[in-house]
Amino acid sequence: LKTLPDIDRSLSRLALGRGGPKDLGALRDALLLLPFVQNIFLRENLPQIMQTAIHELPDFSYLAQKLKKAISPDSLPLLVRDGNFVASGYNTALDDLRQLDKDAETVFKRMQAEYIEKTGISALKIVSNTLIGHFIEVNSKYAQPLLDDPSLGFIHRQTMLNCVRFTTVELTEKENQLRTAKEQIQAIEEKIFAELAQEVISRSKEILQASKSLALIDILAAFAELAENKNYCRPVVDNSLVFEIQGGRHPVVEDALQSQHLTFAANDCVLNEDRGTLWLLTGPNMAGKSTFLRQNALIAIMAQIGSFVPATSAHIGVVDKIFSRVGASDDLSRGQSTFMVEMVETANILNHATNKSLVILDEIGRGTATFDGLSIAWSVVEYLHDHNDCRTLFATHYHELTALKEKLSHMSLHQMMIKDWDGKVIFLHTVGDGAIDRSYGIHVGKLAGLPAAVVKRAEQILKKLEVQNTHTTSIVDDLPLFSAVLQQEETSKSEAEEYLSTINPDDLTPKQALEVLYELKKKIN
Ligand code: ATP
Repeated sequence: LKTLPDIDRSLSRLALGRGGPKDLGALRDALLLLPFVQNIFLRENLPQIMQTAIHELPDFSYLAQKLKKAISPDSLPLLVRDGNFVASGYNTALDDLRQLDKDAETVFKRMQAEYIEKTGISALKIVSNTLIGHFIEVNSKYAQPLLDDPSLGFIHRQTMLNCVRFTTVELTEKENQLRTAKEQIQAIEEKIFAELAQEVISRSKEILQASKSLALIDILAAFAELAENKNYCRPVVDNSLVFEIQGGRHPVVEDALQSQHLTFAANDCVLNEDRGTLWLLTGPNMAGKSTFLRQNALIAIMAQIGSFVPATSAHIGVVDKIFSRVGASDDLSRGQSTFMVEMVETANILNHATNKSLVILDEIGRGTATFDGLSIAWSVVEYLHDHNDCRTLFATHYHELTALKEKLSHMSLHQMMIKDWDGKVIFLHTVGDGAIDRSYGIHVGKLAGLPAAVVKRAEQILKKLEVQNTHTTSIVDDLPLFSAVLQQEETSKSEAEEYLSTINPDDLTPKQALEVLYELKKKIN
């Protein structure tokens, strides 16, 4: 199957009159392969769908053999006019003309030897170019006798810087014969191409049918191979609203980890009345939230396209649409900022998800100010729960959202498990019940290589924020860098301020107060 060319593409190029010898070659190769594919699969005990596909493959033996006979087995040109693609032995007239073409060079060599002997000019040559065809070329210093004596039969054609070019009646005749042969060869090849293309096109319907069947066999065989090699299970897909995945894995991440001899931690995802249909997933950065969300969406897609799935068991009520809002992207050329794109996508989900949909939302509201983002995330969760009533996986760093558990009956809390060991965070990549109240973002920043000073400073700020739970302005007083800024401001008090700080308004008579006012006015001028 791997060696099968793209039949549809070649066929449509031929049908549109844009095809070339390569397309006929591709179709020849594909049609010749069909019986082998058929034989291999007929030997197996296959499911009905594949048997039908294999039996439905039409019989192309006549066309395949014809193409095999007609088209050269060598590498083929893209364009018909490049020629030399019809196999030798297919058309006698073409073979004869090709022989003539081949022999022509021998004839010219013989003529050259004769002319050398006749003129005594050993450097005389018969050469050719695309502009004037074959001609006799003689160095200028030997040319005069040939120009002077017409009885020698040399007819002048061109005088160049160092040489003179001639022809003869005999050479012109031979040249004409050769040109005609070349034209005839091209005409015959074009005719053969048109005939073959027509024959192929007349069977396009069956060829497309074969291509469809082959594609189906290909994809089903690939599914089977994956299922077998990667230990996938057969999912149950029905009309319920269930979504129960036991031991689910992300097919691509698992593969990537395996190639590094690492193991993927399998996770269950059970969205039902008991366990909640809206899972709010919290967890540190890098703990595997996005992977978990995506693996479940992928499992749903794989199940519904007829594949086995990377899980130990899977029961999925048919999903009408999968909505996902993950990652940060923008569409600047169309006037959409990152946050705008996030909101447009979120709006689309809220406006279109039904109770049969599966929604995965990864960190809604991260692109704006904390309180704006939190408020949006909050109301999105409520809307999905109350209005859309769809199966939802909602990953977030807004730990405040976990409070919604009390209000929303179908919502449940889940967390990516970690171990805090000796000051280090170990990601277990397993999903557990409950919520986590930290994101360990600074830890991940450190792993990523943020400068030590930045990490230290971030830890300092985080501690303040956590302990005081106050507004940033009050923390500023306590932090060296910002308090230094404040101090600087203090030392640079104006003269008027200095003067005012010495005044006690209660001790002043109205006249003194007026004097202070004049004094102040002076100081600020
Ligand atoms: P962030 O909050 O920073 O976006 P996250 O919690 O969404 O992080 P992921 O991006 O899903 O984390 O995962 C981070 C990495 O952890 C993955 O690239 C993968 O290598 C590894 N990982 C995720 N899930 C698993 C798993 N179940 N088993 C093993 N490794 C995993």
